[in-house]
Amino acid sequence: MNSSDARIDAPPQPPRIIPRAEHTVSRSHISPNALRVLYRLRDGGFQAFLVGGCVRDLLLGIEPKDFDVATDALPEQVKRLFRNCRLVGRRFRLAHVFFGPEIIEVATFRASSAPAQDEEPLEEEEAEEAANGEQEPQAELIDQGGPVTESHAARFEVEHAAREAQIDTDTERMFDVTGRILRDNAYGSIDDDVWRRDFTANALYYNIADFSIWDYVGGAEDIAARRLRLIGDPETRYREDPVRMLRAARFEAKLGFELDPASAAPIESLRSLLGGVPPARLFDEVLKLFLTGHGARSLPVLRRRGLLGELLPNVEAYLAAHPGSLVEQLLLKGLDNTDARVSAGRSVTPTFLFALLLYGPIAALIESMPPSRWHEMSAILDACDQAVRDAQRHIGIPKRFALGLREMFALQPRLEHPRGRRALRLLGHPRFRAGYDLLLLRAQFGLASAERAQWWTDLQAASEEEQGRMADALAGGSERAGSPKGRRRRGGRRRAPSGT
Ligand code: ATP
Ligand code: MG
Repeated sequence: MNSSDARIDAPPQPPRIIPRAEHTVSRSHISPNALRVLYRLRDGGFQAFLVGGCVRDLLLGIEPKDFDVATDALPEQVKRLFRNCRLVGRRFRLAHVFFGPEIIEVATFRASSAPAQDEEPLEEEEAEEAANGEQEPQAELIDQGGPVTESHAARFEVEHAAREAQIDTDTERMFDVTGRILRDNAYGSIDDDVWRRDFTANALYYNIADFSIWDYVGGAEDIAARRLRLIGDPETRYREDPVRMLRAARFEAKLGFELDPASAAPIESLRSLLGGVPPARLFDEVLKLFLTGHGARSLPVLRRRGLLGELLPNVEAYLAAHPGSLVEQLLLKGLDNTDARVSAGRSVTPTFLFALLLYGPIAALIESMPPSRWHEMSAILDACDQAVRDAQRHIGIPKRFALGLREMFALQPRLEHPRGRRALRLLGHPRFRAGYDLLLLRAQFGLASAERAQWWTDLQAASEEEQGRMADALAGGSERAGSPKGRRRRGGRRRAPSGT
């Protein structure tokens, strides 16, 4: 595939303009900061629109996650209008306007494109009056940034693809041999900008000049029909940016939309292209799939589309080999709990997410060892390391999360078999909370002693004095649940880590 094949064949056509009286997007639901940005651009003589997911969500009556602005002002012109603004993006510049913790992203209209594959957040220019502690939007999801390692295989593929790439000098767009966009630098008008969007539902523009919505691609109709439809030829669009396959699954899960058959059809034959996407980007997408409030729904969608096997083949292999298993139930329940935390505004962590996802592969690795090793710490740690290494071949899990996961699993036997007053020290362990949550979940499915889990629940609610008494009672031999003696008894059947 070369550049000219991959371009969307889009005859210029006027948008359908939906006047304010005929749609439900009200300024009272738009972030006041986004409105400030829109008005300032308008008053500066520029076009200014809200675009993408926020317009879609406002039409659906959902509170948007963030507000993105599109304008004909160039990034430098945007910067001149806002003191609290910083330009980001190495290859394609965007303006971030800061209001305390809220960032409004302002993008200049761009000719048809996909987002840069391996774009890193960067600080081209410091905000003059940016708020303290500001982060790139992605960083909110993944705690603090930190280096992410790409797997050698994927890096090789990316480099190989780059060598084979062809440059389309007319438009400054660069594609690789599979049709994937590697670089895109051209500014355009709103008529161009619309064609770089992925789904029709994500391609509506809310015009601050008269509060109308501009619809070039039938997005309003598709939203009303709860239909997810790619703009342009689906195969071409997936080849340009294979991550769109994951985005399709994400929006199916998040919005409950139905993926249009023509947009669904090519996924089966193209999904392996995800192997060429930088692992750091896939990691980000996994977080968006599982840590933004609809993780329990993302899992079945990913599996139905054959995409989980591209992201986490070891997880897919485990689930396929053990349908309806306790581990699958534990995973779904854990994802449900995570979704509930997100909707309650509580924090969630990739460490816990990966512990859930990799629970099955880790259990299977332990069970492949001789039963005499099943309860050894070294077996647990070896299995964690192996499962993480397998996952790392596809998605770049930053080291600190991998280490956190290892600690969570290492805590399990210590929580199951607490030893006297030493057990109290575990309460101050940095992974105690995550380890305890995992223990509770395991206990719920009979994978750990419910009595012991309750003991830890009670311990946390107890006064210091009572805690001491509870620990002493353990040491005095009144311990029943998960007794180490019972565990080490010869001849008795050992419980497999997966409960099988
Ligand atoms: P969310 O509710 O998860 O934020 P969103 O639709 O706003 O969903 P973003 O990733 O925030 O998704 O992207 C904003 C907009 O940018 C999208 O609505 C879409 O128009 C465009 N976009 C983002 N990623 C892509 C992509 N990979 N290919 C084409 N267009 C994209
Ligand atoms: Mg968004």
